[in-house]
Amino acid sequence: MGAFNTIYERSPRFLRSLYVNAYGLNNVRRLRRWERLLAGIAYTERLDHGGQVALVEGMLKDVIRRAVERVPFYSRFSALAGDLERRSVFDVLNEFPLIDKETIIADPGAFLAQGADGFVVSRTSGTTGTPLKVCMDRDTFLLADALWWRRTAWAGYEEGDWIARLVGDPVVPLRIQDPDQPWMISLTDRRIYLSTFHLSARTAVRIGGLLNRRKPAFIMGYPSSLEILCRYLDESGFRLEWSPKSVLFSSEPMYDHQEQAIRKLIDAPIRGLYGSGERMVSAAQCASGNYHLSLVDGYVEGQFGIMDNVRPAAVTTLTNGVMPLIRYRLGDVIETHPGFRCECGRTLPVMSPVITKDEDWIVTPSGRMISPSAVVWAFIHQEISGIASGQVVQRDGRSVTVYLNTGEDNFNRHKDALRRSMERVFFGEMDVDVVRTDRVDVSRAGKSRFIVNELRQRK
Ligand SMILES: [Zn+2]
Repeated sequence: MGAFNTIYERSPRFLRSLYVNAYGLNNVRRLRRWERLLAGIAYTERLDHGGQVALVEGMLKDVIRRAVERVPFYSRFSALAGDLERRSVFDVLNEFPLIDKETIIADPGAFLAQGADGFVVSRTSGTTGTPLKVCMDRDTFLLADALWWRRTAWAGYEEGDWIARLVGDPVVPLRIQDPDQPWMISLTDRRIYLSTFHLSARTAVRIGGLLNRRKPAFIMGYPSSLEILCRYLDESGFRLEWSPKSVLFSSEPMYDHQEQAIRKLIDAPIRGLYGSGERMVSAAQCASGNYHLSLVDGYVEGQFGIMDNVRPAAVTTLTNGVMPLIRYRLGDVIETHPGFRCECGRTLPVMSPVITKDEDWIVTPSGRMISPSAVVWAFIHQEISGIASGQVVQRDGRSVTVYLNTGEDNFNRHKDALRRSMERVFFGEMDVDVVRTDRVDVSRAGKSRFIVNELRQRK
């Protein structure tokens, strides 16, 4: 936890409200920058195939040349960069090695461009439980934010619209177990921050009441959190008295059981966003229901039908000069559909929604359901590194075990902070054991799950 988060957590509500509104002012400025950026790349939404390929070719060439020149891991491929003059960039790219998280974790410094400074760090773990830090220049970071915002813009955002968020915002301190107001409101940028961590039968009804009063234009959340909220509301007979323009989701796939629970309560189109924590690739769902890749952040092999689609996907950054990852395997399978024509009129390449594991919830003794993304949040917001993989397992009603696959020194350095972070997310209701292991159980699907609730599986 950063120092500011600690101050925020200890502050009384009126001070926290001030912080949230100040943050909102900053958000208004960021939104202006996103809108300028999006206006600048709006033309890429309608480029024909040849125009798209030419654009990406040029960006790929720049990235490859810079990587070979400045990045230790890629310096041995200088001959390939020379080939760019006379061969197709896609043929050249195909000769670079595929890399993955493990390649980077083994020697992160080898992927940093020499002389890079003033960069920002994006932390990710996906739901694979392998934390990774990716460094990038500020423009790359900003571009990813803008592209994620584009989903909301496509869903009909207008200035002045309210947005309710039910994601990993730690807006209500976890020391408050059962808040009367499980939210914070920012008037400056018209955001309602709902606390995912505090969802319970009681708080859900209060949240429902707030939504009925404020009538936000958008409700945005993790599918698992939205499902939990809607189930609680439904069980208590609560009804929402208005319809938002759209329900927005990200970070997890939307499963049928989740969509049904949400549709029972909210009558609005549901739009997803796929974005990797590495900020290399993203896709927004349009009104026709298709996920359009962004084209300008990263190149997914297979998106043009020129290179074969590698499964899981291989992606090359088009913008990040600080830590330019080439043919990086995200861990997600991305099915692309070259040549597909979307009814919305956008020519941006289309992909299928990413299917990952249907993660379990952790259930606390008082019956709170803690969404997988909330647990992931507690996991990656520790300054932990060098973890090959992790897993959270609930075997009984009162305790969870966190398994970490890492070296002994690293384990000893991080285990206490991680245990405290996990205990907070479970409101002290669960005993948390942190255990070192040299392997994490792999499910029958062949991919390890991050959260395993053995109680639910036995039912
Ligand atoms: Zn479309």
